[in-house]
Amino acid sequence: MRVSRLMLVTLRDVPAEAEIPSHRLLLRGGYIRRISAGIYAYLPLLWRVLQKISTIVREELNRTGALETLLPQLQPAELWQRSGRWAGYTAGEGIMFHLEDRQGRELGLGPTHEEVITTLAGDLLRSYRQLPVNLYQIQTKFRDEIRPRFGLMRGREFIMKDAYSFHADEDCLRRTYADMDTAYRRIFERCGLRAVAVEADSGAIGGSASQEFMVTAEAGEDLILTSPDGRYAANQERAVSLPAEAVPLIGGLRQSGAGEALATPGQTSIEALCRAHGFDASQLVKVLLLLARFEDGLRQPLLVSLRGDQELNEVKLANVVSARLAGDHGALLGVEPLTAELLRQERLDLDLSALPLGYLGPDLEDALLASQGLVLDNVDSRAGTAGAATLPERKPRLERSFLRLFDPTATDLEAFICGANRVDTHRVGASWAGLGLTPGADQVVDLRAAQPGDRCQHDPSQRLEAARGIEVGHIFQLGRKYSEALEATFTNEQGIDEPLWMGCYGIGVSRLAQAAVEQHHDADGIIWPAAIAPFSVIVVIANVQEAGQVALAEQLYGEIQRAGHEVLLDDRPERAGVKFKDADLIGIPWRVVVGRGAATGRVELVRRADGERQELAAEELVAALNRQMP
Ligand code: ATP
Ligand code: MG
Repeated sequence: MRVSRLMLVTLRDVPAEAEIPSHRLLLRGGYIRRISAGIYAYLPLLWRVLQKISTIVREELNRTGALETLLPQLQPAELWQRSGRWAGYTAGEGIMFHLEDRQGRELGLGPTHEEVITTLAGDLLRSYRQLPVNLYQIQTKFRDEIRPRFGLMRGREFIMKDAYSFHADEDCLRRTYADMDTAYRRIFERCGLRAVAVEADSGAIGGSASQEFMVTAEAGEDLILTSPDGRYAANQERAVSLPAEAVPLIGGLRQSGAGEALATPGQTSIEALCRAHGFDASQLVKVLLLLARFEDGLRQPLLVSLRGDQELNEVKLANVVSARLAGDHGALLGVEPLTAELLRQERLDLDLSALPLGYLGPDLEDALLASQGLVLDNVDSRAGTAGAATLPERKPRLERSFLRLFDPTATDLEAFICGANRVDTHRVGASWAGLGLTPGADQVVDLRAAQPGDRCQHDPSQRLEAARGIEVGHIFQLGRKYSEALEATFTNEQGIDEPLWMGCYGIGVSRLAQAAVEQHHDADGIIWPAAIAPFSVIVVIANVQEAGQVALAEQLYGEIQRAGHEVLLDDRPERAGVKFKDADLIGIPWRVVVGRGAATGRVELVRRADGERQELAAEELVAALNRQMP
């Protein structure tokens, strides 16, 4: 390919829209152009990279016995209503683009394909004799991300490889999951990426075991916690650890166990309270007031107790709340701090000023949730939201008792300080029994965020270390969640019908391309790993006015092509310096410079990764390249 025919437009200036190096470099190097927020054109150079990645993905998946297929991107709402995901994916913060066709039927643009594939599997897979099956596709996905950013990292339209496996039993699912794990490691390694596998939260996709593959990079959106011995690695969303020991409360338990009142005027934050009285944050129980919103209109107030020095893990909380209530109330639409603003949006009649915010104790009475007279218009003004068909009642209605949840760091405290449920007052030396609270086993759940520096559960002498990662792949053991919901069954060896066992496996192909740049670049530009570079070699004619240079370059260009290497010829009438800069920017692994030396048949070979140069005779060039790229 000749650079003059490539429509190559490189940018000298750093584009204002790009915040991270890989995004800047892909824009500057003429790989992508932004069409709209989170929507990019993949220009010819990038398309070659994407195809190389796809080829590696195909080779490794085919090797496991997976079959390539292609499923529709337009998906009927009905399928998503049957799985119970339509509302969660379309209402509130849902990320599915959805539309109505000319007959008024609702459709969604596929953000993922569990519904479609499970329905197909239910139709096609009738007997255990047909199992296992693993189907994959490489295709554009659509997600109306709340914050599309960083170019291809979080797009609203992006390329994904997704695979779905079906099994007669859980053991078989585990074997395929392990094969996919191996395939993924090979894929990332072949793409030249340093990736680590971490325990992951299963999120809205659902299911049990799941693992993410993270490309480690400063710009990564995910926080990974790992143990120095390499035995533990998890996404912070999911990570567990041992909390630091709490500092015992001097004086311990007061007689009644209900604690003694302490005047704490204006001390509504843990820092203020500790500063004023010399407390340690680990001696406090903090109480968070939140609201969970469900598809059927239920608005469940939550009271979460955590030790004062701990942070809430919102992902863990959402999982617990959803597991508890989604069965009866449809999808969990969100969990947010209960604020006046939220109540207004939801048109709920609760007067927050009656709640002693900043002074809440775990024993806050349900009675406070009763209406205090401020009645907002509670008429449903939001009817007609897509998906209303699934569950009858959608009007927000406030549950009048708290769902109380306790992190073990809080319940493990024998004596503690907490709010007195009265403005400007705390209690010192309270105990759970003294407050009249005996949290049930199902109310005590791990809700705390593990932090770097925490001791590891598997070995307390190890401390968690933090790294940032870009999630490029995710594999799940889904179990039977979708096959049950969509009634995808097969007949087992005993002749009995049962739901299929399922796994699903994603790779963000376009995100991976950018992650490779994030991991492999320098001040001058991209340094593509050889296996996914758009071209392997670029022949630069230093001066196209020199017939000798042109002739030799053309000859070498042909020879390199015939030797089977993908080669670019920079034949543009630009200054040599401009062309060298562009070659560095677009990151082709090998640069051949045909300049003054052409007169004596000498050329220069430069390695992009470290700038190492070697001068050699033109006739030795192909052999030298063959040695580098066997
Ligand atoms: P994230 O946590 O980053 O939002 P996810 O958990 O929603 O991702 P999956 O549903 O597991 O993602 O999708 C499979 C893969 O697709 C991810 O591992 C990621 O590499 C890629 N991916 C997901 N969302 C996007 C996006 N908006 N833009 C580009 N790639 C994406
Ligand atoms: Mg994921």
